[in-house]
Amino acid sequence: MQPPAGLCDRCAHQQVVTTTRGSRFSLCRRSRTDPSYPRYPRIPVLACAGFEQRSAIPEQELS
Ligand code: SF4
Repeated sequence: MQPPAGLCDRCAHQQVVTTTRGSRFSLCRRSRTDPSYPRYPRIPVLACAGFEQRSAIPEQELS
């Protein structure tokens, strides 16, 4: 069981990366366009100006 990533676990910009060894990392997709966001934020993230609530609708159904 990996530690919870705090706000990131409910954020639309989170991408969970799982390694072949089963480790789980929380990647912030905002880091791709805004260098002020770390690619792998220190977790748990308790406050973040970039947080946006993840939709209940899976991403592939939004397009
Ligand atoms: S925007 Fe903030 S809350 Fe959302 S994934 Fe990035 S660091 Fe986490």
